Amino acid sequence: MKISASVARARKCLKKTGKLHLGYKKKMKDVGLRGFVSEFLYGYYSIDEADPFAKVAIEIDACYWHGCESCGFVGDKRIVTIQKRKDTYLRNHGWLVLHIKEHEIKRDPYFRIEQIRELQAQRRELHAEKIRSAMLKGTLCVKGLRSESDNMEWFPVADILRHRTPHKKMYRVTTELGSVVTTEDHSLFLFEGNREVRAKDLHSGDLIVGSFDGHERTPVVVQKVEETIQEEYTYDLSVPGPQNFMLHTGILAHNSYSISGVSLDIEKSSKYESMKNNFIQEYDKAKEEDKRSIKIVKGLKQPRYGIGISSALGPYSRPGVQSRRNYVSGFRGGWA
Ligand SMILES: [Zn+2]
Repeated sequence: MKISASVARARKCLKKTGKLHLGYKKKMKDVGLRGFVSEFLYGYYSIDEADPFAKVAIEIDACYWHGCESCGFVGDKRIVTIQKRKDTYLRNHGWLVLHIKEHEIKRDPYFRIEQIRELQAQRRELHAEKIRSAMLKGTLCVKGLRSESDNMEWFPVADILRHRTPHKKMYRVTTELGSVVTTEDHSLFLFEGNREVRAKDLHSGDLIVGSFDGHERTPVVVQKVEETIQEEYTYDLSVPGPQNFMLHTGILAHNSYSISGVSLDIEKSSKYESMKNNFIQEYDKAKEEDKRSIKIVKGLKQPRYGIGISSALGPYSRPGVQSRRNYVSGFRGGWA
């Protein structure tokens, strides 16, 4: 009897917390606060509302369960313990954790939203600046996969490239991890044997290489492949070594061929070897290619250390590219 009554009460409260959370989320949206993902998974924990770029975590706490001095609740022991561990874990990993209490939302539905907006803007600018300066110092790293390995490792980014691609068809590949927009001839990898596969040759049900935890190579199910709007420019990273890099969604993508800063279209990649062997004679031809693709930023080739980000263009690619899910698909231009 006692147990079932307590379970019923817990269920009721969980629902209530959900409602409280949704209500607050709606207020955030109403005032145009963007970039927060609900129930964002980080490490072992789920964050109520998280901006993974700014590393701002918002926890919406029901007073009865999480404990509240002003309402006179001690809280549920297990929930309070887990919450403490979670806060410590997040803070140790560079997050700013904010707790919004039930009674605060009840008093003012927009409680602290403006403050959150300011904090988010400050922290985003800081993060973008870190990436910019890392790129210029040559210390920017992304995760990639060595062909013989089963684990993703950090590799330095040599160049960020912009291709002029108004003539190319664009495809959106949607997977269980999120979606990616690429030119028709850009490659992802089939899980079986790490074989390169063009976006346009993928079908729903195919397994491609990705990673759920950012570390281990895992099969990711393709759900949909569709043609989408063509783009004037697309962007790409050059990652010498693995020749691939992991997108923010956790999908592994092939990188462009780049010789001394001259980027080639993928279909011209067979030229890569001959150009490498005979670079001076091919230089003029390469300059022609250069008109089609330009390099935006140049990094030093030898990194001294890397900074821990999982993709390079995000925070300042354009305003509004924020959530983990739409990071790649919403990225203006997509990836070449
Ligand atoms: Zn309270």
